[in-house]
Amino acid sequence: MNYNANPESILIRGAMIVTLDADDRILSAGDILIDNGRIAAVGDLAPETIAECDRVIDGSDRLVMPGLVNAHTHSPLSVVHGAYDLLNHRACMWLFQAYTANRTPREVYVSTMLNCIEMLLTGTTATLDHFPEQSFGPDDVEAVVSAYRDSGMRAQVSLRIFDGEYTDILPPGGSLPDKLAADVKRLDPYAPKSVPELRELCSDSIERWHGDSGRIGVGPAPSNPMRCSDELLEMCADFVERYDVGVHTHLLETEVQAHIAQELYGTTTVRHLDDLGLLTPNLSCAHTIWIDDADIDLMAERGSSVVHNPESNLLTASGLAPIPTMLARGVEVGLGSDGSCSSGDQAIHRAMKLVTAIHRVGQPDRSRWISTRQALHMATAGGAAAMFERGKFGVLGVGQAADMVLYDLKRPWWVPVNDPIYQFVQSETGAGADTVIVAGRILVEGGKITAFDAESLLEEAQGLVPSMKERNRELFDVVERVGSAVL
Ligand SMILES: [Zn+2]
Repeated sequence: MNYNANPESILIRGAMIVTLDADDRILSAGDILIDNGRIAAVGDLAPETIAECDRVIDGSDRLVMPGLVNAHTHSPLSVVHGAYDLLNHRACMWLFQAYTANRTPREVYVSTMLNCIEMLLTGTTATLDHFPEQSFGPDDVEAVVSAYRDSGMRAQVSLRIFDGEYTDILPPGGSLPDKLAADVKRLDPYAPKSVPELRELCSDSIERWHGDSGRIGVGPAPSNPMRCSDELLEMCADFVERYDVGVHTHLLETEVQAHIAQELYGTTTVRHLDDLGLLTPNLSCAHTIWIDDADIDLMAERGSSVVHNPESNLLTASGLAPIPTMLARGVEVGLGSDGSCSSGDQAIHRAMKLVTAIHRVGQPDRSRWISTRQALHMATAGGAAAMFERGKFGVLGVGQAADMVLYDLKRPWWVPVNDPIYQFVQSETGAGADTVIVAGRILVEGGKITAFDAESLLEEAQGLVPSMKERNRELFDVVERVGSAVL
């Protein structure tokens, strides 16, 4: 992707800098020169450079870090945070439909911007949006792309598609009571589209929007392989060949998905994806919990990425992904928040902290624990790989995209700085993010969004849930009844 960025030059002077480069350099007082959206220099710059810059930022009491990457979210669910507690994955999936059905393109735009506001204010500069929750058209794609264009964030819009049934979210017995099944059928919240329809929608979207603003990618994204026909999955592989786009999917999030796939394919989902030509570096898979060691090796060999979503996986009781094994075997892993309704937030700081803690439980072998440095790699370069932009951002080095965040070292959790990486992962929550820069453009300054009118969008987002509840009243009633049946 070509970076079409802010032509202004910016000099950050005298800041603590954690580069995350190959030499793992940490500078206690260094400079960063940004030119035409890229990093032009890192280190001690000559004083005359200052006069030549359009803008100089004083880096005293600031820590500069690469911007964080949220490699798996669902922007339509931003307004749904706090909608429920104590629901399992099946029940959540039904409820999402009532909250996301029949949205207008403006509502799609506003909910995407709400997600962006939360991410920007907590130091995330890039995201993969597995969009939307269900049926969508070209106007909705235009709305979500417009939001990323206006927000200034770097984004991968992964168009969520399926042409089969959501058999994994039916009750454990396999079917709903007759009356309820008839009501579901009538409202059909998971109505699949045909392969020709999806082919046209995806190819039109890619041709129109992929590469937009030099920051936005578009690609096909099966909701889950087992909800898609082989014809649809092969279409995704064709698109990789034809357009050099990335494919994103949910994979093996729940145990029942692994069983259904085994019955469907006579082999594992990962092997089936490999047979269809999808297991390449242009594939990233959210969750990937119910996977065996042989398939982890196959993913490592093929260069496909995994996106770990620790908050959502724990809260929906889906399971614990074998991340230490994946890292040991060489799988590239990114971090995601998942939708706000299943995780409660979009702050990748929380996911980073959690990933270091949860894999230590019951594990006496410390070599299997995830270090703060590994968590930080997942939230930066690992996320870039999962967004199909491997090596282009996530490091503060010459030639990298100028995506970075300045944190306020006067916050109590930074006083004193003993180990900037440890404190960044374990102590910082995102609240200390002061200045956020993407592609050389300043989007947040003094902890406030300056790139667009966030206040009026927050106000508009206030009314979205009440109007969805009114509009989809019958659907809410049905999915709540289904929710009780599948818990
Ligand atoms: Zn998800």
